This record gives sequence, structure tokens and C-alpha cells, in this order.
Amino acid sequence: MTWADISKKDLQLICIGLTAFQLQVKGKSTFKDEFVTAGGIDLKEIDFKTMQSKLVPGLYFAGEVLNIDALTGGFNFQAAWSEAWVLAEHLSL
Ligand SMILES: Cc1cc2nc3c(=O)[nH]c(=O)nc-3n(C[C@H](O)[C@H](O)[C@H](O)COP(=O)(O)OP(=O)(O)OC[C@H]3O[C@@H](n4cnc5c(N)ncnc54)[C@H](O)[C@@H]3O)c2cc1C
Repeated sequence: MTWADISKKDLQLICIGLTAFQLQVKGKSTFKDEFVTAGGIDLKEIDFKTMQSKLVPGLYFAGEVLNIDALTGGFNFQAAWSEAWVLAEHLSL
């Protein structure tokens, strides 16, 4: 069938399939199933208001290079982006 030949009913079914498709969530995967590198930079060495190293002024870190290891599965991207935003905001001041 071409797009031009599709009936209104079939179009509605596609719309419903795309917007109202339901999935049964059976819970989160078990702890440690998530991927996280837990990089080498100790969190105690970072000022989280700027993402600047407390040991080396002018040196900044964000993302997986930081030693974040907890229930972060699915939030690692958010952590990396948020840290990068904080860092960039500080640098642009
Ligand atoms: C299989 C897998 C699945 C994942 N799934 C998820 C998920 O569903 N949700 C989630 O939130 N997180 C997930 N993560 C984690 C997420 O991908 C990372 O936390 C995130 O990408 C870290 O971002 P980053 O910028 O710190 O590091 P990276 O994304 O690793 O970026 C580092 C960059 O630096 C480059 N680089 C390295 N060395 C050098 C060098 N010497 N010179 C120049 N460039 C260099 C690398 O090529 C790379 O492009 C997953 C990770 C893996 C491995």
C-alpha cells in the first residue's frame, strides 16, 4: 500500500500505535547491571559548583572521568551533560 492509498481508519490505527502503545514495566534491572566507568578523579577533589579541581586550579572535569559509582544507571548521560553545563557556565562568567 502506498501512503496515498491509506484509509482514514488505517491512519488512525498507525497514530494509535505510535502514540498510545503500552509497555508493561517489570522493574529496574538489578544494581551493577548498568554501565559506569567510575573514572579516577576522586569526588572530594572537585568543587561541584564549578567542576574545578581543588588540587589544580584552572583544571575542570565532567562526565565519566569522575569517580561516580552508585545507582546511576540511565542517569550517567544526564550527569555528564549537567556537569558540562555547570562547567561551561563557570568558564563563561
Ligand atoms: C554500553 C554502554 C551503555 C550505556 N548506556 C547508558 C544509558 O543508557 N544511559 C546513560 O545515562 N548512560 C549510559 N552509559 C554511560 C554513558 O555512555 C557515559 O556515562 C557517558 O557517555 C560519559 O560521557 P563522557 O563525555 O564523560 O565520556 P565519553 O562519552 O566516553 O567521551 C569521551 C570522549 O573522549 C575521547 N577521548 C578519549 N581519549 C582521548 C584523547 N586522548 N584525546 C582526545 N579525545 C579522547 C573519546 O574518544 C570520547 O569521544 C552507557 C555506557 C556504555 C559503555
